[in-house]
Amino acid sequence: MRAEFPDFRLGTVLATSFTATLTERRGDAVERIPTPRRLVDWLAVSGLAVDSCTAAQLELARELREAMHAAATAAAVADPLPAPAVRIINDRSIQGRAAAVLTPEGDRRWRLGSASRVEDALSVIAADAVSIIAGERDGRLALCASPTCQAAFFDTSQSRTRKWCDMNTCGNRQKKARFQAGQRKNSGSVK
Ligand SMILES: [Zn+2]
Repeated sequence: MRAEFPDFRLGTVLATSFTATLTERRGDAVERIPTPRRLVDWLAVSGLAVDSCTAAQLELARELREAMHAAATAAAVADPLPAPAVRIINDRSIQGRAAAVLTPEGDRRWRLGSASRVEDALSVIAADAVSIIAGERDGRLALCASPTCQAAFFDTSQSRTRKWCDMNTCGNRQKKARFQAGQRKNSGSVK
């Protein structure tokens, strides 16, 4: 049954991995958390395991996701941050309980409030978005060069010149399109 759902696109940055649960926003959008169960799965692989998720909590998550996307997009192009998006991000950040804890091996883990609620997990994601949009972390917010994607991503490359949100998908597709355009041109010149 699970195989019917689109795969997750997990990056190294929590906030933009979360906004990437909806891809191709400017084309044929792909919803990667179509059901509450899929959000539970995504949270589990992202180190934020929760016990359960309701339809209303999934709605809350998607609202946060789109607010993060709007705010990150504005930040990437140096536009003023949209006030409604900022309010949603802040509300989610405030209305959850989570604590960073150290494992014996020295890794950081998130410990959610007692019931491991979705709201607690969303507060961690919202706080991650805050730190990125506020420019606190080493990297640069940018928009994917693929016209059907234009996802906001966090560029941590040394040169800060990454063009695509994901090399394996958008980057590859773009390269292939260029290659095919080149082939067409070449075959045209032969005639
Ligand atoms: Zn992209």
